[in-house]
Amino acid sequence: MCSVNNYEYYRSHNICVRCGQEDAENNHTMCLECMMKSREESLKYHRKHRKERQEKDRIRAKKRYYKLKNEKICTCCGKRPSRNGKVLCNQCAARINYRKRKAYLLNVYATKNMCEIRV
Ligand SMILES: [Zn+2]
Ligand SMILES: [Zn+2]
Repeated sequence: MCSVNNYEYYRSHNICVRCGQEDAENNHTMCLECMMKSREESLKYHRKHRKERQEKDRIRAKKRYYKLKNEKICTCCGKRPSRNGKVLCNQCAARINYRKRKAYLLNVYATKNMCEIRV
């Protein structure tokens, strides 16, 4: 039996095209249960592919890091030469230090009261 013909047959008779058992929901080609199942499956599919994509991105970032490191170029901006023995250029190092310092200070302010900071 050809599945495409089945599909057309079920659709025209308002039968779920997925299980071929239940009545299809109004304005849909599937019954409620199959609609939920197929939604779940497509969610699973997307989740799986997102993971794969993230993994690919991670590998690419790693490759980029080592390539730039080897060429003694800043691994952050990928433009300016890195400082001696470091993986960052002066500007990126300064920017990251500034950000770290800010985060550190925020943390200090959040965890200690003003008196302790002054001491
Ligand atoms: Zn069904
Ligand atoms: Zn840089």
